[in-house]
Formats: sequence, C-alpha cells, structure tokens
Amino acid sequence: MKLIDLSQPIWNHCPNCPTHPLVRVEVIADHSAQNDLTWHMERLEMASHTGSHLDAPLHKMPGGKSISQMPLETFVGQAFIADLRFLAADQEITPAHLQEALPQEPQVLGDKIILLATGWGQKRARTDEWFYHAPFLGREAALWLVERKIRGVGIDHYSVGGALEPRNGHTHQVLLGAEVWIIEELKFSDEALAVPQPARFWALPINLKDHSGAWCRPVLEVE
Ligand SMILES: [Zn+2]
Repeated sequence: MKLIDLSQPIWNHCPNCPTHPLVRVEVIADHSAQNDLTWHMERLEMASHTGSHLDAPLHKMPGGKSISQMPLETFVGQAFIADLRFLAADQEITPAHLQEALPQEPQVLGDKIILLATGWGQKRARTDEWFYHAPFLGREAALWLVERKIRGVGIDHYSVGGALEPRNGHTHQVLLGAEVWIIEELKFSDEALAVPQPARFWALPINLKDHSGAWCRPVLEVE
C-alpha cells in the first residue's frame, strides 16, 4: 500500500484563514541542557479549523452534529477529484464546471467524496491572492452536489465557499445542513491528480470532543 499525502502543514505563523487567530507554536521544552534529562515539546495555539481539517455540521448549523458524534467510517471512502485548475481568481465553481470535471452519470456520485482541485493549495502563503481571491464553490454547485447525494466535499483552500460573507456561509449551510461534511486546506500534487479514480480517501479527525471540526491527515490510498 502507498499513501499520497493531501495535507497542508502547520507551523508558527503559517498561512490560515485571516478571520481566525494567527497560529502560534512555542517550543516550551528543548534539549539545550545537553543532558539526558531533557525533553522537546511545543505548545500550540490555533483554531480548530486550521490546516487540513474537517467541518462537522455544528460548524454552521445550530444543534448540528459535532465531529465526535460522526462515525469514523464516514471519513474513509471512494473519492473523485474534479480538476478545476483552469479556474481564474475569484471564479465561482458552478454546476456546469462540476458536470464537466466529474463522471457524467449522476448516480455514480452517490456516497462519494468529491475533491475540488483549484490549484490554490500551491499558492498557500500570507498574500492578498491566497487570503481573498481563491475560486470558490457557489451555492448552486453545492446544491448540485447535495442532489447527487455525495458524502463529503473537499477543497484545496481554507474555505470551500471563499472569503466573502454571506456567500461562504450559504455554501456551508447547503452542505452541512444536508450533513455533507467538508474538508478544507487540501493540497494536490501532480501524483495525486494522476491517481486512477475513484480512489480510496482517508481523513480521520483528531478526537476533539463536541467540537465543530477537527484537524486531520487526508491521504489517497493507492495499490
Ligand atoms: Zn472549517
């Protein structure tokens, strides 16, 4: 078995959603004493929606399921990657784009995980472009995916619905209101994009009790 990593790393002051707290990593113990009594350890300060992470319905829906209420099996399944790297900055992903980039027969998408590759994962930096101008999944396309009874949807940017409100909130509402989970901050290498589809996808969340989402390590499994 081989695993292809789809995650974005976390480090001190790494790029993240600009409306969330800045990521802070502090080394609180190190081996500087150079004896055998030392340890190395870090203290992290960041939102639960930082780096590669899953959104549970609770993130947007009052009373919605938390990440610890969702069965682990839901985060392992067959995925299709929609190659949308042709999109321009600020461009809305529409049903027509998805129709073009995914298998044509609607029933094939049932229970599948749909991963949106915009190329923005490669642009991850504290720039105006990455913060505010990523392509985004529009409400119409989110409805199109829900109608096809998909299981989850992922994107290679910190927000599936982009940076602008209320637009981003509407996209989250359509997906999370239908109990379709979301994974954000993926990164697609050329190797990942070349994997025969559907491919087996894993993204097990850290067990954050009653939280609205959790960090995870998304991978594609290949033979
Ligand atoms: Zn999130």
